[in-house]
Order: sequence, then structure tokens, then C-alpha cells
Amino acid sequence: MKQKPLHTLLAVSMIAAGVFAAPQAHASKEKPVIGFSIDDLRVERWTRDRDFFKAAAEAKGATVSVQSADANEQKQIQQIENLISRKVDVIVIVPFNAKTLSTVVAEAKRAGIKVISYDRLILNADVDAYISFDNDKVGQMQAQGVVNAAPKGNYFLLGGAPTDNNAKILREGQMKVLKPLVDKGDIKIVGQQWTNEWLASNAQSIIENALTANKNNIQGIVASNDGTAGGAIAALNGQKLAGKVAVSGQDADLAAIKRIKAGTQTMTVYKPIKTIATDAANLAVQLAKGEAPKFTSKMNNGKKDVDTILLEPTALTKQNVDLVVKDGFYTQAQVGP
Ligand code: BGC
Repeated sequence: MKQKPLHTLLAVSMIAAGVFAAPQAHASKEKPVIGFSIDDLRVERWTRDRDFFKAAAEAKGATVSVQSADANEQKQIQQIENLISRKVDVIVIVPFNAKTLSTVVAEAKRAGIKVISYDRLILNADVDAYISFDNDKVGQMQAQGVVNAAPKGNYFLLGGAPTDNNAKILREGQMKVLKPLVDKGDIKIVGQQWTNEWLASNAQSIIENALTANKNNIQGIVASNDGTAGGAIAALNGQKLAGKVAVSGQDADLAAIKRIKAGTQTMTVYKPIKTIATDAANLAVQLAKGEAPKFTSKMNNGKKDVDTILLEPTALTKQNVDLVVKDGFYTQAQVGP
């Protein structure tokens, strides 16, 4: 057999050793390809995140491939693996489970792909950037909104999904406001529970049980988003208590805006989705082009101090709820008179 030239042998052994394994030949940097892996498009806000993100990224010459994991951990991992095999330039992730993506993020990084943690922080993983709203502040606003309406009494803390790092940060923010009032004896926390998958139906049964256990003697429900607030208010409605118990939320979902106007929900937190989506799209394009984006802080995710951008939330009550129309988040016709 004729002997192979030395450089061929070298190349073969280098392939075997994995030297050529990391595919670096991505799409042209002028037209980056971005994968957007979203936990769950059943929650109203995420469809807006998707649409604004796509529009902003495409305006910058990028192509976006969107995947929804439908609150399924395995499905999200497979979808991210698929984006890696398609050699996208950047993967933007809204994680379902903050704690189970370390391996797949490492795979993406080995393939030369940048990873952005969107709205929720991915823990124990080598992510390149994190962009969100100031969730600690959101939590404080939620508790303060309930306290303003019900300064004394029995409180129930309706947490978000136990798999979502934001749920934990929100609770920390809420407790900054509540703890001094609990210590003073003004507020008694009669129960607290996390809501699996942030589902309204889960929230409803949690609050139905809490009302039964406390013989309806609850004055405040610190709900961590509008979906779960809707579930809580349905439970209150069943006891003719809607509008009599203070309830918080966040997201400025259209249904929540209508409940605030009707007086059954006390407040929500408005987070301009267009801003986070547009900033994230710009960030993704900058990372793809190897530019250095501007960050406002760092947040530790258990593995590293992640470069972070935190945006400002706004508390909305009946008094200032029209801001969502002024800001173009909804039309007057959508919100109603
Ligand atoms: C987001 C909220 C959202 C919730 C449920 C949280 O991580 O910050 O805006 O309502 O997830 O999807």
C-alpha cells in the first residue's frame, strides 16, 4: 500500500484528536444567525418578546430561528442542541429550568456560539451575557403595592415557578418590604407556595386551599405575575371576595390591566417588552460581530460574574394604568374606556 503523505496523516490524527471539531465557520457576521429558545409561549408576554426581538434583529440584518419549549426541560435542551448543530452564531435563551442547562451551554460555547440569558438567569453555566429587568425591584413593588392597599392583616405569598431564578429574586425583593412589617406585627404571613410552571390554574387551586385553610381571612395576596394573579382572583371570585383582597402582579397583561380598571387587581408591574427585546437583539448582533457591548452590572450565576443589563420596571395602579396606552403598549380600544 502506498504510504499517505505526512500532512494527510497529520490532518487525520488532528481530526481524531478533535482539533477540527469546533465548527467556527458560522454565517457571515454581517448577517448573523440567532437562535431564540423560549421557555413557554403560552404566557402572553413571551409572544411579544418574540415579535419585538425578531423585528429588531432582522432590522440589523440578522435571521432569527424561534423555538418554544412549552415548559419542558428535555424539549428545551434538544432544541438548543439542534441550534448548535445548525451552527447559529448566538443562542438567546429564556430558560424553563435555571439549573439544567449547564451542559448544553458548555456544548454551545465549545462550538464557538455566544449564549445570552434572556429575562431569567441560567445558573452554573458559562453564559456570555444576561439581560433582564431589575427583578428585586419588581418584587419590592409588588409587596409595596399590596401593603399600600392592605397595610395590616393576613398575607399569602404566591410565588412563581420553583424552576425560575426570577421567582426567587422576586421573593427576596418582596421580603425586603414585608419583613419589617411582619416584625412589627402589622402583617402575618399565613402561607406561601411556589406555582409550578407559573400556571394560572395551579395558582387558583393554591389560593382556593389557602382561603379554606384560613376561613377566608386573608387581606393580601402577593402574586408574582399577572397570570398567577388571574388564578388567585378567580379563587377570590368563587368566595365573592374579588376586589376585597389586595392582589399584586407583573407584566401588564391585557387581562390584568382590565382587572385593575375594574378594581379586582390592585397593581401590576409594567416592563416595556419592546425595550428588553430590542436591547437583547442589539446585544446578540454585537456579540456575533465580536464587538464589546455596554453592560450596567454583573450578576453571579454560581459559575461566574455574568455581564448584565438590568432595565427599570414601573409599578402601575388604577391611578397611572393609562401609561400602557401612552407608551404604545396597548391601544385605548384594547384597554377599553
Ligand atoms: C418573567 C415574568 C413572567 C414569568 C412567567 C418570569 O421569569 O420575568 O415576566 O410572567 O416568568 O412566564
